[in-house]
Amino acid sequence: MDWIRIVFICVVVAMIVCALMEFSSRSTGELLTEAEVYKAMTGRKRPSEARSFATDQFSAWTYCPSCGEFDCHAMRETNPDVWTKWSAGRAKWLEVQEGVPRQRIELRQFGGGRLRVIDEVLSYPVREPIHESEYATIRICQCGKEWGQK
Ligand SMILES: [Zn+2]
Repeated sequence: MDWIRIVFICVVVAMIVCALMEFSSRSTGELLTEAEVYKAMTGRKRPSEARSFATDQFSAWTYCPSCGEFDCHAMRETNPDVWTKWSAGRAKWLEVQEGVPRQRIELRQFGGGRLRVIDEVLSYPVREPIHESEYATIRICQCGKEWGQK
């Protein structure tokens, strides 16, 4: 009876060894890149990669240039007034800034002599919106990103 147990154990051990040898010798090809791992785990392209897939040419299913979501994103009509209002607001802001003294930066040489004088550059604190008149539609992602497509 004991020799049957010993043979059975030997057969099981041999099967395990064979399975491990086959598993270790199986060709796995090249290692996955970080982007491939991201895609495998989330089912979508990495945002940095998706940005290169995002296009301003109309496509119903498209990548969001911000978060990389591939979807049939919502659309809205273009509104050329957005940029016009921004431009008018910037012009008013610059008029107000005319009277405000700007910070002046002096760059000095090591020995103490003056090298250059730089005036502070004014920059309107509101980010410039896209010129929506250049596009046929504005796409809206669930992440809040809006972008134009022609
Ligand atoms: Zn998005």
